[in-house]
Amino acid sequence: MSHTDLLLRVAVPSPLRRVFDYLPPKGEAVENLPAGIRLLVPFGRQQRVGVLLGVVNSTEVSRDKLKRVKRIIDERPVIPADLLKLLQWASQYYQHPIGEVISTALPTLLRGDHPASARGKKVWCLTGTGRVLDLASLSRAPRQQALLQQLQRQDRLDAEALAAISENWRPAMARLLEQGLVEITEEAVLPLVQAELRPAHDLNPAQQAALEEMVGALDRFETFLLDGVTGSGKTAVYLAAIKQVLARGQQVLVLVPEIGLTPQLVGRFREQLATPVAVLHSGLTDQERLAAWQAAGNGDARVVIGTRSAVFTPLQQPGLFIIDEEHDLSFKQQDGFRYSARDLAILRARDAGVPIVLGTATPSLETLYNCKQGRYRHLTLPKRAGGASPPVIRLIDVRKQPMDSLISVGLRERMRDHLSHDGQVLLFLNRRGFAPMLICHDCGWVSQCPRCDSRMTLHQQIHRLRCHHCDKEQPVPEVCPACRGTDLRSFGYGTERIEQALQQQFPGHTVLRIDRDTTRRKGAMQGMLDKVHSGEGQILLGTQMLAKGHHFPNVTLVGILDADYGLYSVDLRAGERMAQLIMQVAGRAGRAERAGEVLVQTHHPEHPLLQTLITQGYAACAELLLKDRAEASWPPYTYLAMLRSDSTDRDAPMAFLTQAADLARPLAGPHCQILGPIPSAMERRAGRYRAQLLIQAGQRQALQPFLAAWLVQLEAMKTTRKVRWSIDVDPMELF
Ligand code: ADP
Ligand code: ZN
Ligand code: ZN
Repeated sequence: MSHTDLLLRVAVPSPLRRVFDYLPPKGEAVENLPAGIRLLVPFGRQQRVGVLLGVVNSTEVSRDKLKRVKRIIDERPVIPADLLKLLQWASQYYQHPIGEVISTALPTLLRGDHPASARGKKVWCLTGTGRVLDLASLSRAPRQQALLQQLQRQDRLDAEALAAISENWRPAMARLLEQGLVEITEEAVLPLVQAELRPAHDLNPAQQAALEEMVGALDRFETFLLDGVTGSGKTAVYLAAIKQVLARGQQVLVLVPEIGLTPQLVGRFREQLATPVAVLHSGLTDQERLAAWQAAGNGDARVVIGTRSAVFTPLQQPGLFIIDEEHDLSFKQQDGFRYSARDLAILRARDAGVPIVLGTATPSLETLYNCKQGRYRHLTLPKRAGGASPPVIRLIDVRKQPMDSLISVGLRERMRDHLSHDGQVLLFLNRRGFAPMLICHDCGWVSQCPRCDSRMTLHQQIHRLRCHHCDKEQPVPEVCPACRGTDLRSFGYGTERIEQALQQQFPGHTVLRIDRDTTRRKGAMQGMLDKVHSGEGQILLGTQMLAKGHHFPNVTLVGILDADYGLYSVDLRAGERMAQLIMQVAGRAGRAERAGEVLVQTHHPEHPLLQTLITQGYAACAELLLKDRAEASWPPYTYLAMLRSDSTDRDAPMAFLTQAADLARPLAGPHCQILGPIPSAMERRAGRYRAQLLIQAGQRQALQPFLAAWLVQLEAMKTTRKVRWSIDVDPMELF
């Protein structure tokens, strides 16, 4: 066969679940083109950037229909072979089009035809002449003089720094460049800062034992659950293991939850590791993200820390994977390509033949089940490191108790006591805003969101109603829109309202409210944390933002204002999440020398879940939850996939899913059950009606082929343009 018969198989970003074959560009030898390079291809009437999956010599499309690749963008793959293999697997497992999977994994700049090498940041610095020039010689050009003066102090400045000296700095700088006083260079975008090293703790026996297990497995794939109460020193164990891996010349990838990527955590890594650490956080520019991706891929960065999408970072020589807070929901992407970064990381570790560590104080039920099955090795750190004693958790039965803005007398007394002993108090309520709704006392009108089956929350400070589901916002009405009455009352409590009440109840103390509303501004969160650490704020009030990753050594009392919310929720995982949240929040108490106290307010103190959690701890509670799941045949005992549909038309989603269910039944076989369709719990959201169809399988192996066959039929289905649909494999949210 001659070379002219060769075709290029390309993953092109598109909703279609297939690959596309193209003729090679004219006159190019393509037989040795490596998979993973980018190509510019015609697609419909447009051009798109696709990624080469392979060179093939047969196609299902007739050859005269084939189009020609416009341009080969890269010489070397932007996606290394191991990563490409992972993405192809993920595309099949999550039933998501390969082109979109690859595009999700790539840094934004590489999704287009931007060159694969990151350009550095432009900086202006002095030439030899500039360095010794007498500033007085520029006295007639004050702007040039000012720029040069600053450069003589600092040697190099970026555009931002120059703009701070003079807004209109560019013409003056152009003159300085012409005169040969200044030159432009590029600075690496990724400052791989090296912090001052600090000596590590000597590990305690439990930490040492866990470390030895992990280190003993460095040459093979093994999944470890590092199950350690908050403050037990999991991070210290990670760091010790990472050092060993680095000493072997290998790299480490660490994934943390979205709000877990705190400067403190990164600081600890940098202080302990004598090596460049690349941090992938949401604040990076596209250039910086690309630079970090490359530094990891070419081995410059030895340790990579990032959130969910960092699981796709190429590594030259992976030696260890770590997932911190493995139970955290942010590891599962909830839209588009709905992957689990934790599960994909496990797969990567398996392919690479290296261990992976899942660390948490509150393991997910899936992970515990995998330990029971012998698939994961369960390591425990039962005690707090450094001698801090565990917090005492108690329930406060609030039935018939007088309450002042969700704060019972019992809780208030304990708060007074802790505050008078210079302890800080942390209160947790997972509801922001002032009140979850506004109601008319004359006629019963409520602040319904016009686009959702939900109420709009009153935000008093900005004096607006805001929907937390679709972000619709409107001014607070002066009079009732229905009856023109003036007795509009706020109903229920959010953090903003509790903050006000606390200021009245504890006038001598500063309250810090930490939620999405008070931390929106850049740097605001850090400012709050500084106030916590300096002791400027004594009462901390917050949503789940406060539950993770923070060290508050002076917090001695934690109050959970409303534990009932999770007890009777419809969601399958509500109980698991409530138990995790209580333990995580409780873990903020008494982390230093002082013992902590945790109070949980509830109307259901006899509830078995709460009772077990309080008296026997998280592990016993998880056992109870697992038993419930087994009896009800829910995950992890079965496997789920959810087909969701939405439309502006009220009936369209149910009609579509009913048809989809009809197609599914003959394909399903004995191991797959089709449950529904049903309208979603909040049927209308952001103006769209929503419904869902659940597939439950007794075996994972039964689910995959069924889904693949079914989706082919769904794609071919003639539906109105109004319906959107998506498939979610291993869904985290069921309602
Ligand atoms: P986790 O990640 O399990 O919550 P950390 O690793 O953050 O726990 O450790 C909690 C605290 O205990 C930190 O302040 C840490 O410096 C300290 N610590 C960890 N290991 C030890 C040890 N072996 N001896 C003394 N203190 C330790
Ligand atoms: Zn009214
Ligand atoms: Zn809304």
